[in-house]
Amino acid sequence: MSPPKKIRIGDLLVQNNVISEPQLMEALAKQKQTGQKLGRTLVALGFVTEQRFLDFLSQQLNIPKVDLTHYEFDAQEVMRLSESHARRFRAIVLKEHADHFLIGMADPMDLHAFDELQRLLSKPIRQAVVPESQLLGTLDLMYRRTEEIASLAGQLEEEISDDAFDIAQLSAQDDSEVPVVRLLQTIFEDAVQVRASDIHIEPDEHVLRIRQRVDGVLQENVVKERRVASALVLRLKLLAQLNISEKRLPQDGRFNITVSGRSLDVRISTMPIQHGESVVMRLLDQSAGAIGLDKAGLPEALLSRFRKLIHQPNGLILVTGPTGSGKTTTLYGALMELNEASKKIITVEDPVEYRLERVNQVGINPKIGLDFATVLRATLRQDPDILLVGEIRDAETAAIAMRAAMTGHLVLSTLHTNDAISSAMRLVDIGVEGFMAASALRGVLAQRLVRKNCVHCSQPYTPSAREQAWLEERLGAELAGASFAAGSGCTYCNNTGYSGRIGIFELLELDDAMADALRSSNTLAFTQAARSAPGYTTLAESALAFAGQGVTTLEEVFRVTEQMDEVAQELAHAFQPPDKPQFGGLSLEPLDGEG
Ligand SMILES: [Zn+2]
Repeated sequence: MSPPKKIRIGDLLVQNNVISEPQLMEALAKQKQTGQKLGRTLVALGFVTEQRFLDFLSQQLNIPKVDLTHYEFDAQEVMRLSESHARRFRAIVLKEHADHFLIGMADPMDLHAFDELQRLLSKPIRQAVVPESQLLGTLDLMYRRTEEIASLAGQLEEEISDDAFDIAQLSAQDDSEVPVVRLLQTIFEDAVQVRASDIHIEPDEHVLRIRQRVDGVLQENVVKERRVASALVLRLKLLAQLNISEKRLPQDGRFNITVSGRSLDVRISTMPIQHGESVVMRLLDQSAGAIGLDKAGLPEALLSRFRKLIHQPNGLILVTGPTGSGKTTTLYGALMELNEASKKIITVEDPVEYRLERVNQVGINPKIGLDFATVLRATLRQDPDILLVGEIRDAETAAIAMRAAMTGHLVLSTLHTNDAISSAMRLVDIGVEGFMAASALRGVLAQRLVRKNCVHCSQPYTPSAREQAWLEERLGAELAGASFAAGSGCTYCNNTGYSGRIGIFELLELDDAMADALRSSNTLAFTQAARSAPGYTTLAESALAFAGQGVTTLEEVFRVTEQMDEVAQELAHAFQPPDKPQFGGLSLEPLDGEG
């Protein structure tokens, strides 16, 4: 097929009244500064939507416009174009025909890309125009590293004879030719592409399992070259400066690695299991950085209430939820809003997750006796306005945090509890005296993440009889007229039906009734006061609302709320031992630096 004629798209857009002459002038001027393509500039300036622009291109060039969200790719055909070429030319193979390729391009007017693609594929090409945002997401998913990992593992296994690794090779810093280095790099690249939060490397009897946690759920990749596991583990231990000869005891450490141009902070933990050592790595994308509170996913009304809380000059604010519930994101978001030259902020964390400018961040290190309580005591001598305590785990930390909150400091912290109501009572349970909790605590935000339906394969859906019964029992007719949906699974969601997560929240602001109940450690009265507070919505209700809007599935709501019920029962149990004293009997030592 002949290449597209060189046309002046700007003039055509004006001639066809898609944009005005002054808009074109403004876009051209802007384009000179940024060097970006005209189309993208016009969209960025809001003069035309991406869809409208693509429709126009498709008409003018007489080529189809393809929506990639529902496109069924043939993985082998896609691979006819290497990943680097696909990314460089913003192109993807949509279909291979006997005499030509159908290629989706983000910029079909790029003549250079057209020529290069035709040369590389050695067959004529026909173009289709595709949205750039969709294209980039699709490339990430199509060019997975699974095969590369398998082939590198094969190579590596050939090179190693049992237990005789070349330590010098394994510790090579940047020799990307060494198979184990390349294999590891590929594993990390794959994890970054699918937005995995953790990588698990688990040697089994006959295979090596590499599992990645994506949106909170593990996905498995089985590598049959089991023997490469020891080389991988050894290399990882060297990177984290762990003791490589110690294989019988668990170890933990951290290291930094650059993957696809991003700086990843990796927290690593090893543990001896029946067939070797299991390694789990948590990935923190340092280059992504902390995000603002408005991006933490709080609904508008809750966000403004939470903002009011954190802008108080003193008191304790708790953000609670299990590991991976997004509470760190919320807390960092809060710190970012509070971070100004006139406020001294100190954080005590385990470990420091994101670095924040101007904030004094301390990572605890129990190995040298630097625990939460010790650091917290020291921070109070540093004249802070705002403190972030990574987690309140014990009576001592709780006591110091309370004291700080009652003596003119704003204290933000987390508790490992399930919902807002149990969090407040949990303080008493840890050993904080009721009157202290009542006067220090300002509010509790409980949160959890639920998986969102994949927008590409989500379909309307009618709940089963069992689900309907559950809904009626919990909510009566409140969800009548709701439209439920579920994903069937596609390339975009790795066949899980889910993609991305959204936060569900429960915010408790302490009022007089709650404070009174807390003062007398009266769980029942506290629960009643909390439930009748205006604007109070439980996590389950918040999750169900999303299900009713088709954002997530009922299954996901059940998954999340079942966990809650379990722990809620445990807590209820923990709260009412027959001989439990009213107060924890905690003695509070005076703190240095108090007025
Ligand atoms: Zn999908």
